Amino acid sequence: MAADKRVSDLLRENGLKATKGRVEMLGLFLKAGRPLGQMQIMEMLGLKLDRASVYRTLNAFTEAGIIHMAYVNGRHRVYELPDKCSGRNCHPHFSCRSCGMTACLEGFQVRYKGNLGKGFVAERQKVLIEGLCPDCKEK
Ligand SMILES: [Zn+2]
Ligand SMILES: [Zn+2]
Repeated sequence: MAADKRVSDLLRENGLKATKGRVEMLGLFLKAGRPLGQMQIMEMLGLKLDRASVYRTLNAFTEAGIIHMAYVNGRHRVYELPDKCSGRNCHPHFSCRSCGMTACLEGFQVRYKGNLGKGFVAERQKVLIEGLCPDCKEK
């Protein structure tokens, strides 16, 4: 499949071997076009990969710079492709508390007033807005 070829090329360009599991997982990100959490990935893969493999693969992708962590919510980590931002300068995200769907809020500015204080250095800002997505709001 052409899509699989694109995924394997992307893996190789970033110094990773294109194993079946990696191709499968990266394909999910490309298809989804939005941030995905560990649990969502597990669900989408069905029983194709166990939890440890998903975890390992996400770490390998993160180290290679193919994805970055959009945010952490408790123990739930959500990752995304860096096509809209960098890990250092990420846009705010919306997370649905009911279904766990995440949306990127591009062009959405959060301003803070005041300063951090002497000696503090800001490295990145992660903003997460929680609520209900349109599908869950209807129910
Ligand atoms: Zn929802
Ligand atoms: Zn995002």
